Amino acid sequence: MATATSVVQMDPKVSGYVGKTHKMLINGKWVDAASGKTFPTYNPATGEVLSNIAEGDKEDINRAVKAARAAFETGAWSKISHSDRSRMIWKLADLLEQHLEEFAQLESLDNGKALKVARAADVPLAIDHFRYYAGWATKIEGNTIPFSGAPQGKFFAYTSREPIGVVGQIIPWNFPLLMAAWKLAPALAAGCTIVLKPAEQTPLTALRLGELVQEAGFPDGVVNIIPGYGETAGAALAAHDDVDKVAFTGSTEVGKLIVHAAAGNLKKVSLELGGKSPNIVFDDADVEATIPGAASAIFFNQGQTCCAGSRLFIQKDIFDKVVEGISEKASKIRVRQGFDPDCDMGPLVSEEQLNRVVGYMDSGKKEGARATVGGSREGTKGYFVKPTVLVDTTDKMKVVREEIFGPVVTASPFNSIDEIAAKANDTVYGLAAGIWTKDIKKAHALAAKIKAGTVWINCYNVFDATMPFGGYKQSGWGREMGHEVLKNYTEVKSVCAAL
Ligand code: ADP
Repeated sequence: MATATSVVQMDPKVSGYVGKTHKMLINGKWVDAASGKTFPTYNPATGEVLSNIAEGDKEDINRAVKAARAAFETGAWSKISHSDRSRMIWKLADLLEQHLEEFAQLESLDNGKALKVARAADVPLAIDHFRYYAGWATKIEGNTIPFSGAPQGKFFAYTSREPIGVVGQIIPWNFPLLMAAWKLAPALAAGCTIVLKPAEQTPLTALRLGELVQEAGFPDGVVNIIPGYGETAGAALAAHDDVDKVAFTGSTEVGKLIVHAAAGNLKKVSLELGGKSPNIVFDDADVEATIPGAASAIFFNQGQTCCAGSRLFIQKDIFDKVVEGISEKASKIRVRQGFDPDCDMGPLVSEEQLNRVVGYMDSGKKEGARATVGGSREGTKGYFVKPTVLVDTTDKMKVVREEIFGPVVTASPFNSIDEIAAKANDTVYGLAAGIWTKDIKKAHALAAKIKAGTVWINCYNVFDATMPFGGYKQSGWGREMGHEVLKNYTEVKSVCAAL
């Protein structure tokens, strides 16, 4: 790994922020954990402690849920004018925009990702998300219902959409601020009150966002933020009897635990889980555009993306050419610390992830796969790995079947469109897929056959607040984004009056 001669200077506000021990946000106050305990968050580029954070536990979740319940029942948020609700969410977006550089730096430090990526993607997408849902706060409507089984005029029936109540939100570490925005923005627009638990690996931007929530003027108790571990704080939130709904993004394994935990009071559950997404390249694709597109589909965010294009299927005639092109791209990716202006790929988020991803690289090689590029750790300090392309794989290999959540792609050849849908669907997951071809008719015909929540054609990892995102099969329940997500945060009430 090359060392940079100069790295971006840390913003003094950021160095001041990481230097502190952070509290949790309950009922509009920053407080210590009831236990008094703290936990460290690490800089993945060095393995050194970045900040210490109040360690939320069951008792803190109880306090936060109580605050969220009180804020919900008083109507301080759910019953105010929807224009005021909209204005406040918009203000939060404005504040985030004013602090864009600070948030990008915090995200890069805590997660490891390239600062230039956090500046261009994570923070602007989070801002846009708040703006999009600020608009929805004034547009959540019901319907009037003409009866089918009674003469018209006998009954007047309509539906209304009401906020679901107190919402628990548990988010992962791959896009910490953006995932907070995906969860908070629609729930706020719908009028819910919230207890948010950020991932233990990356709590900093969610906590800083909590300060902006206060600055924007949200009533106390509307947004509560409890950092802590999944098995304690997360599990307590998912199981809490006074939480009406839990929204989770993370691994499929933990998603199943959430479902069990939620059974006690049958709270509503939405899940955005893992993936092993097929990325399909036909021999009539624009190869010049496909090679960088397919490389970015897997290597973006160090491959730590639930929808990463991790199973590459390439039509036989162009297999060697595309593999060679992607391998060359991978070899040129500059693996550096996030603050290095030349950084194309930062470290993985944690030592645990490093061991997991290197474990998969070794398992692939042991089962007979061959790395055309990469295949191991990068350097000895921090949690860096080499971007990796594996060929000579079989359908049974662990690297083909299991989610790696790192910059490792398997590439295999296919013969024709007739066999590719079955190959693409041969997975327990169904989050996303990519199709590369100049024949748009073929692309749409295949898109219809793929069991995945998102299909990208001649592009990949393209997100917009308007476009629903979520999974078929074991990739999840429900959809985030667009107007679809509002269903997650509202109850439908039918009202029927005899006339
Ligand atoms: P990963 O395995 O990639 O770290 P996880 O699914 O474990 O992803 O974590 C995603 C989020 O779920 C984090 O906020 C984590 O703290 C939380 N979490 C982990 N285990 C549990 C659990 N048993 N109950 C509730 N939340 C959990």
